[in-house]
Amino acid sequence: MHIITKIVRLRNVEGWAAAGRLGSRWETGAVTGAWYPARAVVDTAAISGNVRTLARAAGSAQVMAVVKADAYGHGLLPSARAALAGGATWLGVAQTGEALALRTAGIVEPRVLTWLYAPGAPLADLLVADVDVSLAAPWALDGVVAAARATGRTARVHLKVDTGLGRNGLTGPQLDDLLPALMRAQADGAVVVVGIWSHLAFADTPDHPTVRAQAGVFEQTVAATERAGARLEVRHLANSAAVLRWPSVHYDLVRPGLAVYGLSPIPDQATSAQLGLVPAMTLQAHLATVKLVPAGQGLSYAHQYVTTQDTTVGIVPLGYADGIPRHASGTNQRPGGPVQVGGRRLAVAGRVCMDQFVLDLGPAATDVPGDLVTVFGPGADAEPTAEDWAQTCGTISYEIVTRLGAQVPREYV
Ligand SMILES: *Cc1c(COP(=O)(O)O)cnc(C)c1O
Repeated sequence: MHIITKIVRLRNVEGWAAAGRLGSRWETGAVTGAWYPARAVVDTAAISGNVRTLARAAGSAQVMAVVKADAYGHGLLPSARAALAGGATWLGVAQTGEALALRTAGIVEPRVLTWLYAPGAPLADLLVADVDVSLAAPWALDGVVAAARATGRTARVHLKVDTGLGRNGLTGPQLDDLLPALMRAQADGAVVVVGIWSHLAFADTPDHPTVRAQAGVFEQTVAATERAGARLEVRHLANSAAVLRWPSVHYDLVRPGLAVYGLSPIPDQATSAQLGLVPAMTLQAHLATVKLVPAGQGLSYAHQYVTTQDTTVGIVPLGYADGIPRHASGTNQRPGGPVQVGGRRLAVAGRVCMDQFVLDLGPAATDVPGDLVTVFGPGADAEPTAEDWAQTCGTISYEIVTRLGAQVPREYV
């Protein structure tokens, strides 16, 4: 059967750092010879093509490919390289460990921004690695200045402002309070304010008034910060939905994530294909068992699904530990998560378990152990998509791909 020859994966080798601090360090390594009865095949050309499509939509703005959360489950390094090949000039990650992993892997040319950290973060390492850091809270200025003093580097910072999302970022009063100290730190050479950025609450909702309101606050903040002495390189506000739907907020740089991987950020308005995007990930498994069962047999825990005729069932060796949502369980009334086997569309029958789920293959099934089960893919061959799974589970496609288990091998084509 299938042999995985080379998998690039990240593993957290030092989850708990010394001195009782919560910290982490990511190490990049090649795992060879791992065998698993399933795999996520990632089409790197699709990622490059999607970035090209987004860059066209972004007009004169540069593209920061967001590769946080292990590139939305697609694998940090191969996805980052594919995005750069497609024309991204920036990479964005939430976690500091991912920013360092990009640099450690030799991705030194593009700018990298990291934006979510707590006291104790390895800010000095980030400065040495030439990573731009977000400043989203007053305490972070002290941390960044200390790291700059310790390393002799100048920290390149992007001020994160809460323009109305109500999540991370400096409020207006916080920024007013912080500006004098920030400008002193800039005059001292400890920091240079290179960017101002924010995030939208309703980018996916057509004509939502908050988008214009947030853009207004954003522009006022930019003006005030420039008056105070900032010489900005980049102003950035747009995520995937805004890249595709709100050209007025593209500014100098856009930050698409989901669309880089080919998934529609606005599935109720447009499919991937309609947006010119190609989903990059195909999740496949092989049937582990095929067997005959009589009518009236309950399948899986609690017998939520009961066979209505003598039939054939197949065991798929993927479960919630692999990221198959338990919400994708099926009953006789409500089909579970969709899959494709032997060219036909089937659904999870009964409960999704930790490592496996069951399919009712039907009385005339000719499937055999080892046959391919496509859980989701681009949809080009009528296979289900990550968006179909999201709809079945009452969630968003972001969650379907990002939760794919780290143990599922990623294979790059
Ligand atoms: C995740 C994230 C993005 C990318 O969002 P998508 O909707 O996936 O395009 C952009 N900016 C910030 C701050 C984010 O957290």
